[in-house]
Amino acid sequence: MRQRSAVWALALAVTLSLLTATTPAVSQSLAHDAVIQRKVIGHSVKKRPIVALRLGEPGKRVIVMFAAMHGNETAPSKILHSLADGPPVHGIDLWVVPTYNPDGVARHTRQNARGVDLNRNFPYRWVKLRGTYNSGRKPASEPETRAVMRFLRKVRPSQIISFHQPLYGVDTDTKRPAFARRLARALHLPATSFDCGGVCHGTMTGWYNHRFKGSALTVEYNAHPARARMRQRAPKQLIRVLGASRGR
Ligand SMILES: [Zn+2]
Repeated sequence: MRQRSAVWALALAVTLSLLTATTPAVSQSLAHDAVIQRKVIGHSVKKRPIVALRLGEPGKRVIVMFAAMHGNETAPSKILHSLADGPPVHGIDLWVVPTYNPDGVARHTRQNARGVDLNRNFPYRWVKLRGTYNSGRKPASEPETRAVMRFLRKVRPSQIISFHQPLYGVDTDTKRPAFARRLARALHLPATSFDCGGVCHGTMTGWYNHRFKGSALTVEYNAHPARARMRQRAPKQLIRVLGASRGR
């Protein structure tokens, strides 16, 4: 009997010491993690998951941010990871998709694994394009496009911000030019117009602006933005311009 209680005492001591050892790490990671939901919205051609992270407060205004739609434009993904790793977001219902085109990121290419430019594959003003801007064999031919369309139809953001490189500026040729100009000022980027050299064919922002009540716009950073700008300044600037806040 005495032996058994000694075994129990030892087990309890071990459990307690394990708890004490792990508790600080657990609470720390919770305190710095704004993610309230992780959703796989679909898969790439090579079956890589496309992940959306939900930050902020359900029921508030829905905002969606995308990065790395082009696999060789990955610097702004840091902005979205930094928001997700940071303190809880309040005042908006924010979804971030840091890696829209995981196959392109793995291959360091603009296009997806089938050589399609995902920002020419949407079914609004789609035309057959070849080469760099290969628009796919038909509108929404790519699984990445269909995943994002499904997701956006479901969450219906009032505002989409799509991050790219390296053209440097915020596109004001969009549905809410006043917000675009405000965003440009907030992010210290020029307010400009990206007209795709005439008409934009098959773009995500064009499709969303045309089919839904909400608006979508493109933000372009330069080729090599400073790490501090991506990890620290841009997340703060975005939270402020969207009328949101962060903290416990
Ligand atoms: Zn791009």
